[in-house]
Amino acid sequence: MIDGKTIAQTVRARAAERAQKLAEMGIVPGLAVILVGEDPASQIYVRNKSRAAKKVGVQSQTIVMPVETTEAEVLAIVAQLNEDAAVDAILVQSPLPKHIDEEKVQEAILPSKDVDGFHPENIGRLFANRAGYYPIANTPRGVMTLLDATQQTLHGKQAIVIGRSILVGRPMFSLLERANMTVTLAHRHTPRAELRRLTQQADVVVVATGVPGLITGDDLKEGATVIDVGINRLADGSLVGDVDFASAEPKAAFITPVPGGVGPMTIATLMQTTVELAAVNHGVELD
Ligand code: NAD
Repeated sequence: MIDGKTIAQTVRARAAERAQKLAEMGIVPGLAVILVGEDPASQIYVRNKSRAAKKVGVQSQTIVMPVETTEAEVLAIVAQLNEDAAVDAILVQSPLPKHIDEEKVQEAILPSKDVDGFHPENIGRLFANRAGYYPIANTPRGVMTLLDATQQTLHGKQAIVIGRSILVGRPMFSLLERANMTVTLAHRHTPRAELRRLTQQADVVVVATGVPGLITGDDLKEGATVIDVGINRLADGSLVGDVDFASAEPKAAFITPVPGGVGPMTIATLMQTTVELAAVNHGVELD
């Protein structure tokens, strides 16, 4: 079992240590979160983010805007935060109300403050495998930290990523490829039988589809590493992933549970990225 909670704690502790070092130099990492509307799940996410920030020594502010806020008003706030020297990291909580173009808002954030790594400039850098520091989407980056914790060699092995969103699947593909794995990217148009054939060959299977129980033990190679990014709320209120844990667990060498796997890593990695941006934006090299 890959213990996401414990690994996330280590990531947070490291971020706190680095934030402390920056504070000693008079730099307080600043995170600004924009929340438009009253989506209850978004409200919980935003609250968790600001709580985590407080714990690691990141100064966080949440800008709450009513659901009828116009796109121009959101863009004006982004422009203001771009200019604000106390803000190192800007995050726009998704989803935005339908009348606001989310891509336009993401593109308005300065790439050097784009803590979610969704700006096309940062996505392009990742895809092109550019050197130097730039923010990378926190969920797939957190998955790489979990894979590191298993201490296995990824180089030359086979991976499959199921799901191709900009939030998870696409950056995940790039990160695994960058770790010198041979990577397949599957999605909703991958025929089911083909998906099984591919997952049965993979040493690492990352599932990010939002389809509960999509991957079962029969889909896996013996000794595979299984990373379940999915978070699905069932009718009975329980939380499950995209992997059928009961059948997958006996076949897997390493597997993440849901909850307690990838989930805790995302916020911890967000803190890690915020502190890194603060350092980079102030020209400080962190060890
Ligand atoms: P999305 O809806 O944007 O994308 C889903 C992807 O899955 C699509 O690319 C689609 O082609 C693919 N897909 C759908 N059905 C499929 C099928 N039957 N076979 C193969 N591929 C299929 O979702 P997302 O934002 O990438 O999130 C995916 C899941 O991960 C959701 O459950 C979400 O809640 C969860 N998530 C978790 C975290 C976390 O921190 N743990 C972060 C982000 C997303």
